[in-house]
Amino acid sequence: MNDFEGLTALVTGGASGIGRATAELLAERGATVAVLDLDPTGVGEPLLAHRADVGDDASVRKAVAAAVAELGGLDVLVNNAGIGARGTVEDNDDAEWHRVLDVNVVGMVRTARAALPHLRASAHAAIVNTCSIAATAGLPQRALYSATKGAVHSLTLAMAADHVREGIRVNCVNPGTADTPWVGRLLDAADDPAAERAALEARQPSGRLVTAAEVAGAIAYLASPLSGATTGTALAVDGGMQGLRLRPA
Ligand code: NAD
Repeated sequence: MNDFEGLTALVTGGASGIGRATAELLAERGATVAVLDLDPTGVGEPLLAHRADVGDDASVRKAVAAAVAELGGLDVLVNNAGIGARGTVEDNDDAEWHRVLDVNVVGMVRTARAALPHLRASAHAAIVNTCSIAATAGLPQRALYSATKGAVHSLTLAMAADHVREGIRVNCVNPGTADTPWVGRLLDAADDPAAERAALEARQPSGRLVTAAEVAGAIAYLASPLSGATTGTALAVDGGMQGLRLRPA
């Protein structure tokens, strides 16, 4: 199943968690893959690594150009880098809103802007944005983070419309709570990390967290020629969190 044989991919936030699992899966399936990350320490063969901050346009342009030169073209962009934020609208000031929106939303715009001229030259061009169930779920204590992911969802639809006639597909994945270093850090900060993890798992319809590999699988599907007729969609990877209406046991 070498779905990506002969194809090239760039994964932002590819040094950890969902991005790392995605970069590794695409490489396993035959793609030549470059990772763009704030901290690419530890990313090695067969992955190519580029240090860049998606919050900085010059840094993104330089890293995308270098990665594309190394890859010899670009077929797939996985816009995955993102950061979290907790709280209600009363808890984060303007500076924090600008900072998180800049990384989570404008970061994806910057990377897409740098990548699009190269994607146009591909016969299998695809962009996959990592969104979240937070885009549409109404999660408590996540006003800023949810707003960024709502914007990523809308951006995905608008980009899909703008580029469909160019043969560039644009989709997003909506992970539920995925067991990545990010979630690990949140659990470690709790008074009782083991109890917090158990409570989090109990809140999932499936009784467990989503794995990074499962999100990577969905991203790989949307990035591959297997989904050639799919654009402007959001694929939930959440163990049933959004779609199921389970009766209390
Ligand atoms: P993670 O923290 O494990 O990995 C994120 C990676 O992004 C890190 O390698 C980090 O260095 C990189 N990064 C952060 N800011 C960056 C920047 N400014 N420029 C370049 N790279 C940067 O996180 P994860 O859980 O794998 O999350 C990845 C994506 O998945 C994010 O967009 C997040 O919003 C989304 N997501 C995660 C979950 C979850 O439960 N883990 C759920 C829904 C959506």
